[in-house]
Amino acid sequence: MGPYVPKEMTEEVNITPIHPLMNLAHLFATVAVTGLLIYGGLGIAASQLATRIGPKTEEKIGAAITASLPVKTVESDSRVAYLEDLLSELQRSVETAKLGKAEYPPLKVRILEMDAENAMVSAGSYLMVTEGLLAAVTSENELAFVLAHELGHLHHRDPLRAMGRSLVFVALGSLLGIGQSTSALPSVVNLAELSYSRQQETTADDYAQALIVAHYGHGARSLGFFERNREPDIGALNKLVEWQQTHPMSSDRIERLKNRFQQKNWPTTGAATPLPENIGCANFTSCN
Ligand SMILES: [Zn+2]
Repeated sequence: MGPYVPKEMTEEVNITPIHPLMNLAHLFATVAVTGLLIYGGLGIAASQLATRIGPKTEEKIGAAITASLPVKTVESDSRVAYLEDLLSELQRSVETAKLGKAEYPPLKVRILEMDAENAMVSAGSYLMVTEGLLAAVTSENELAFVLAHELGHLHHRDPLRAMGRSLVFVALGSLLGIGQSTSALPSVVNLAELSYSRQQETTADDYAQALIVAHYGHGARSLGFFERNREPDIGALNKLVEWQQTHPMSSDRIERLKNRFQQKNWPTTGAATPLPENIGCANFTSCN
């Protein structure tokens, strides 16, 4: 350290060296960043909190969501009993697959009168498959993979987490007087499936894959449905279109699962389990 030399005073000492507009921009940026942090933080907190709602509340929310769906839900079709049996068999393999204990409410299976090939779960463990999906699968193994993927979402409480985030959207929106009012809540929650993250989808894929191998002893034919229905190349153009096209699986996701079969040394050859005849028709009756 040299001797202390006082700096010479300059004329500009009392003038802020930054342009006032820059200060304003900085203020706006600070407000925006703080807002985003609060918003993101609330979203995470809400999605955590939502997994802790009581079983009775969850059942009520699930029933309300199901009732508000814009398409008819069928419960009395004999195919529902078949789906319930297949799902019970898959659930029994959860232990063999070492996937941990499931904590979701008992399943309520419904068929959606919808041509789009899709399946979804909601709060309260409503598991819905579309007519389109039942008409499109060519082996039980394919159908089982789709069902197992949905069980994965339930196992990880994804519908509740997504709902928690949606609630923050709605609450903040109405607080600021923008966006949807709370009367639009069901439609926001219905689209909860949209807000599953890529990570949640990957985790549900892994869950399904392990479950399928534990159940059938091999993974043969299980990805057939997804291979025939690869995600159309629409990018991030329209999330809704994407959902209507069915939980489409991108080529990346299919390739990742194929590689994972190798890594885990899981067999990929084996007999396909046939589907019951006329599964694409109400009550298994011939539908021309
Ligand atoms: Zn999914």
